[in-house]
Amino acid sequence: MAAQVFWRAKTLQEMTPDEWESLCDGCGKCCLHKLEDEDTGDVFYTRVACEYLDHDRCQCKNYAHRQMLVPGCVVLTPDSVKETYWLPDTCAYRLIAEGLPLFDWHPLVSGDPQSVHTAGMSVAGKVVAESAVAEEDLEDYVIRWV
Ligand code: SF4
Ligand code: SF4
Repeated sequence: MAAQVFWRAKTLQEMTPDEWESLCDGCGKCCLHKLEDEDTGDVFYTRVACEYLDHDRCQCKNYAHRQMLVPGCVVLTPDSVKETYWLPDTCAYRLIAEGLPLFDWHPLVSGDPQSVHTAGMSVAGKVVAESAVAEEDLEDYVIRWV
């Protein structure tokens, strides 16, 4: 009998550091600026990206030092995923934490690192840099596709 793939066999807590890292689908959605309604708690994504996001590859340009460079950059852990309510509903960490399967376009499932982009599920080519947008204009960049 074939061994079960790790993301079905293990909980987030049980994954090795390499497995944990590979679980990220590379969508880049969590690196977009978000607005939160103070009254309702609703979170709205914008298409304005953190300055360190590579817009084509959807990878952080300085992943090792991300928290030092961007204090608001959230480093996900098995315990924090459930409290990180603003993660997109396609996020692999959120899916596994909620007991849901990964999508067919996830690179771990497809075997193709590009599949998240070819399926149109990443932010590639859809975002603008934060340096090009004034903070007071963020509302004009709210999107519905995340
Ligand atoms: S939203 Fe989740 S899967 Fe997508 S880049 Fe962020 S951590 Fe990775
Ligand atoms: S520092 Fe890197 S990982 Fe953090 S939000 Fe910016 S691009 Fe994303």
